[in-house]
Amino acid sequence: MALKRRLGEFEIIERFFAPLARGEGGALALVDDAAILPPMGRGRHMVVTTDAIVAGVHFLADDPAEVVALKALAVNLSDLAAMGADPRAYLLVAALPKTLPTAWIGRFARGLARGQRRFGIHLIGGDTVATPGPLTLNICAIGSVSRGAELRRSAAIVGDAVYVSGTVGDAALGLRALRGELAGLGARQRAVLVRRYREPDPRIELGRALGRMKRTERVHAAIDVSDGLVADVTHICEASGVGATIEAERLPLSDAVRVALGRDAALLKTIVSGGDDYELAFTAPPLSARSLARLSGRSGVPVTAIGTIVSDRRVRVLSGDGRELEIRNGGYRHF
Ligand code: ADP
Ligand code: MG
Repeated sequence: MALKRRLGEFEIIERFFAPLARGEGGALALVDDAAILPPMGRGRHMVVTTDAIVAGVHFLADDPAEVVALKALAVNLSDLAAMGADPRAYLLVAALPKTLPTAWIGRFARGLARGQRRFGIHLIGGDTVATPGPLTLNICAIGSVSRGAELRRSAAIVGDAVYVSGTVGDAALGLRALRGELAGLGARQRAVLVRRYREPDPRIELGRALGRMKRTERVHAAIDVSDGLVADVTHICEASGVGATIEAERLPLSDAVRVALGRDAALLKTIVSGGDDYELAFTAPPLSARSLARLSGRSGVPVTAIGTIVSDRRVRVLSGDGRELEIRNGGYRHF
């Protein structure tokens, strides 16, 4: 049997990454020094973001390669969604341990291809290096937004309602389930939660629609929920110089999360402080409620009012009986 030779970086690029650049001429087939993109269009700004995911930190070392690929894309596209932007292209820096099987890279590339089809984007460049550390994947995503339609964190106003899209807490409980720390769930419910942890679904359409609302009804501040609901609402509040009150009873919860919460009420803290939901949290004036309900109906993504922006610069979560929930760490912190 012939000895299997390891692929060099150029072979990896040619075999696995170059096919992902087909369909975007500006990628120059990944054989030049850099990509060349035309301007984003009249009255459109470029929106750029980058986010890295590290084995053992952002995903589990034995997560399937396709899932890791979708996650690497989704965390970046979620940032574009939170700005109201349309995704256009992305770059990938892959730092690969020398022991990583070539087949893993193949499955990873298949996951990227799936994500590309879903979000209408192409790979336009990057870097491929070996690392003595854990597998690390960094994506830089590029998008565009019409001038004036961008969503920012910094304009929440006292009296705004605080909204969140979809449901919260699924990913945090999914991670717990994967770690074997969540007992008593049925197989189907467990699968729903694990899927939400592994395959975030960035709210691109919703972000774009929020940016296009009538000026008087416009969303004042928006963020994607990646660190945890409380931590991310706190980011909005700090950027805007305000505080917020969140009512736990109004939180949109999936059936699976409700079941888990019914068995262990202490999970409420995990739900409001756990990360990885990749929903959008935003604030809007009360008069936007009807437009938001219509927009939610059209886009098929639930949008739920969960609280209010207040002048006292603190973010509080109130439980059903009006008591304040004590949350020590509102979200994930690296350092
Ligand atoms: P340099 O010598 O400038 O580091 P490289 O040899 O790393 O260039 O890259 C050659 C080409 O391949 C470039 O166009 C680069 O953008 C692309 N490329 C390298 N790694 C990746 C990757 N992981 N994903 C996409 N494109 C890549
Ligand atoms: Mg290079």
